[in-house]
Amino acid sequence: MNTLRVFCLCIIIALTGFSCVENGIESMDYDSYPYYIADDLGLIFNRNEIKYRVWSPTAEGARLNFYKSPMGGSKVNSQELTKSNLGTWMTAMDKSAEGLYYTVQLKLNGEWQDEVPGPYARAVGTNGLRGQIVDPSKCNPQGWRSDKGVGKKKKTDALIYELHIRDFSIHPESGMENKGKYLAFTELQTATNDGTPTGVSHLKELGVTHVHLLPTFDYLSVDESKPDTPQFNWGYDPQNYNVPEGSYSTNAADASVRIEEFKSMVMALHSAGIGVIMDVVYNHTGRVDGLSFEETVPGYYYRHTKDGELSNASGCGNEIASERPMVRKFIVNSLKYWMKEYHIDGFRFDLMGIHDQETMNLISTELSRLNPDVLLYGEGWTAGDSPLAENQRALKKHTHKMPGIAAFSDDIRDGIKGHWYDHKSKGFVGGNLELRESVKFGIVGATPHKEINYDNINNSDTSWASEPSQCVCYVSCHDNHTLYDKLKIANPDASDDDIKKMHVLSNAIVLTSQGIPFLHAGVEFMRTKDGVENSYQSPDSINRIVWNQKEKHSEIYQSYKDLIKLRLEHPAFRLGTTESLQKNLSFLETDSSLIAYRIVAPEDDAWDEVLVVFNGGAKWVPFNLPEGLWQVEFLGARKDEGRIISGAIDIDPYSYSVFYKNY
Ligand code: CA
Repeated sequence: MNTLRVFCLCIIIALTGFSCVENGIESMDYDSYPYYIADDLGLIFNRNEIKYRVWSPTAEGARLNFYKSPMGGSKVNSQELTKSNLGTWMTAMDKSAEGLYYTVQLKLNGEWQDEVPGPYARAVGTNGLRGQIVDPSKCNPQGWRSDKGVGKKKKTDALIYELHIRDFSIHPESGMENKGKYLAFTELQTATNDGTPTGVSHLKELGVTHVHLLPTFDYLSVDESKPDTPQFNWGYDPQNYNVPEGSYSTNAADASVRIEEFKSMVMALHSAGIGVIMDVVYNHTGRVDGLSFEETVPGYYYRHTKDGELSNASGCGNEIASERPMVRKFIVNSLKYWMKEYHIDGFRFDLMGIHDQETMNLISTELSRLNPDVLLYGEGWTAGDSPLAENQRALKKHTHKMPGIAAFSDDIRDGIKGHWYDHKSKGFVGGNLELRESVKFGIVGATPHKEINYDNINNSDTSWASEPSQCVCYVSCHDNHTLYDKLKIANPDASDDDIKKMHVLSNAIVLTSQGIPFLHAGVEFMRTKDGVENSYQSPDSINRIVWNQKEKHSEIYQSYKDLIKLRLEHPAFRLGTTESLQKNLSFLETDSSLIAYRIVAPEDDAWDEVLVVFNGGAKWVPFNLPEGLWQVEFLGARKDEGRIISGAIDIDPYSYSVFYKNY
């Protein structure tokens, strides 16, 4: 459609009130909705009174309803809101209202909408149905004021561990008392019955720098009124974005409890030297009708197709219109709120490709102002088509246009283990040599490097990161099979011993690569979900971390620990800039199943030069070490410190080797 026609069509629509199409996006005359600039939406607690403001530019009336209970029971009172500036409605109440539950209700087209807590609710009761008049800044655990986040010199110094709150502690032998709860993270020196450290003690022992929590804002699917019934969900069905999920608290009815317990979790992790990253799902809501967005400003928060139906790039029935000013404002405001009120150190954006680049860039600018070390990364893809033009989407291939934002590298992920969708396809670690180049591409963090053949990459056709800090290197996460399950399916003839070797080799590649490394919780002791591919609502028996496996697979665990230590002790694996990578990292010409590269180490590394060799194949492979004497750190996946070697050696099947030189 040409510009003139769009312009004329919009004029006609503006006059008639029908919808129009702009930038391929179906919109009502949302552009005429006033932008409310101030940051005082929702409840604001002043010294003597509490103010409430909601944005609803097309409403004909607005009221607050008050209740004594979070669910059920009859209304104790209602209070009309008065029309205020820029599409907002407001009222005030005295301090005696504190503790009461409330809903907001808008009158639109002559009808009262459903009662909701409102988009800016920062405290809610059971199942997030009603807001609660609670000041979150008063719900602090002891010592909260001195709590500080975890800063890193460079973003590639971070080592991320992806975890679900319930999985972490729910196993009977987790050694933690607060099973499935935020408070499990506050328990120190926990262990299994045979004394193996679990919980936060385990995280410290392993050496990860950041924990990335699967959704922890209030979501729909778990019934918080039944805490004793085993229920599980990943939580990708948002309800109230600015409130912690109630089912992980010890009392979902009282908002102050979930707020304080969430902060206690953050503080305990910070005390252990571990940063906290939240998985945020601003790309869709758990449903549309009956939730705060749709009931306050119908249509505005969601994208629609040309037929006026909800569009569905999330695959979950709706998608959020991040490009609209008041939606963009909401997302930025919400993220800043989690940073300021809950001391969050970073965010992982679910289906980031649904968001527009302008919003992501604004997020990066605004959040970096609060904390220059903030970690921001996301899935650079969508789950379905979107009305948002492709060139505006925050896709992986556009990462270079979003400084400060990183994307997951599905290139290295599928390169190492085989394609996620084709379960039986083998990866480099299963001897699929066609994927060597994709793995090399991941090693340089998807940046431009002259020794990469970009015509031969699995999921990309060119570099997409400007800097290695824009690439999250990983091989497995909560989605799809666990690494162990995938390797078993893709390599059915491999012995148990070989599967173990492939498993450690997979993350040896990740942990020595130049992007930001990311591990799926439990991978360090070969987590399995018994072959279940999508466990988003599977029972605990499938999802939980089975802590006894740590002792059972103690050799594997030791290897993971050694590799993490290697990375954290040697800045050579964290060069940090594309310029440094281009200058200091070079691949060796290898044939057959090897990948080998050398790094001239930076000055602050105890080593001067590093040589890394991976063998993804089932056979021993002869390899000529570059000139001179090399000290061994790992040889054939075994720690073999102290040996000095040179010349021709043989590299073990499915193995990693690390050598170094000091001039
Ligand atoms: Ca909930």
